[in-house]
Amino acid sequence: MPARPIPLIVIAVNLADLYRDLHQHPELGFAETRTAAIAARELRAAGFETAEGVGVTGVVGVLRNGDGPTALLRADMDGLPMAERTGLPYASTATADRDGERVPVAHACGHDVHVTCLVGAARELAATRDTWRGAVLAVFQPAEELGGGAQGMVDDGLFERFGTPDVVLGQHVAPLPAGMIGLRPGPAFAAADTLRVTLYGEGGHGSRPESAVDPVVMAAATVLRLQTVVSREVSGLDTAVVTVGAIRAGTVANIIPDEAELLLSVRTYEPAVRERVLAAVERVVRAEAAASGAAREPEIVRLTGYPAVRNDPDAAARTGAALAGVARVVDPGQVTGSEDVGVFATAAGVPLVYWLLGGADPAAFAGAGTPGTLRELAAVLPANHSPKYAPVISPTLDVGVAALVSAARAWLPV
Ligand code: ZN
Ligand code: ZN
Repeated sequence: MPARPIPLIVIAVNLADLYRDLHQHPELGFAETRTAAIAARELRAAGFETAEGVGVTGVVGVLRNGDGPTALLRADMDGLPMAERTGLPYASTATADRDGERVPVAHACGHDVHVTCLVGAARELAATRDTWRGAVLAVFQPAEELGGGAQGMVDDGLFERFGTPDVVLGQHVAPLPAGMIGLRPGPAFAAADTLRVTLYGEGGHGSRPESAVDPVVMAAATVLRLQTVVSREVSGLDTAVVTVGAIRAGTVANIIPDEAELLLSVRTYEPAVRERVLAAVERVVRAEAAASGAAREPEIVRLTGYPAVRNDPDAAARTGAALAGVARVVDPGQVTGSEDVGVFATAAGVPLVYWLLGGADPAAFAGAGTPGTLRELAAVLPANHSPKYAPVISPTLDVGVAALVSAARAWLPV
């Protein structure tokens, strides 16, 4: 008697297993080839029309389901060049080549959570397509940490090729208790600009400063004068930070070097404040070079620029009502971290709603009732970019999937 044929079942990878696998195999920005292949495989399995290589390593999946609006769901995919020290059994030991140097790589920002949750949401929205109309645009973005990933996908024709969405939705895992969501209407994440300033002097012998233009003194004066940009030029009602995080010049005591380099980080929330601060920084740098008698103008290069994340208040209210159905939603206050998710919404000219997904062990928050005490407790936990950052798998993944699905449904009619 012939053996009964084994029924062909497509075994969907369990989301927790998928998460652990992604966590163990992090990749740096624009090199997320393995992650992208997994995302594409999962989108195809769920029935999405799928394209790879959008903006280098980005993946786009489209699920069209009759007439109606389009909701874009975004997840970023990249890891960070740092060693993981969580001690988890699925901790990363991966390394990668970066500028000719071997560096450790870890998912210390939790983008593996974002990828896993978007896979789960894609599956669920596909499985329940008889209950909504419109289209879902699943976007797996490269290189959020480098700053150019979202723009790269837009520049590669994301909306021309796959359609312009009516709303951009996304989430970032954060050290809030798992099972909780943080949603801030209005300015939510700071704009961040990284600048490299090169000050040109004229080198000479350390014993004869009169024959040189000393870029070390020029740099020192510039650093001090830059401290007045926020304190004297920004209203007390606005928020801005100017930090000179690196200052480099010279080699030995008796040589006046030719040039000095400063690296600056500028954080703001409002576009007008951002413009004002950046203009003031440039003015101070140029004026100090002139005051020092520099023959050559300083060079100011913007290395990365993240626009502020601004949640459209009406869209946040609509989406927040849906999110409240799957988790406790709190206002986490403004975050000084930065994100390039807003690039999609700005390019499409549509509202953005971006929320924080709690990923910390709720036991660490026992007894915290108010948002204030929540913030205090969260501040002492290992957070994103810490080598010890370790979101709990449950219920973070389940809530993250449910949040994306319910947020999308808030925009897709029945
Ligand atoms: Zn990050
Ligand atoms: Zn991140």
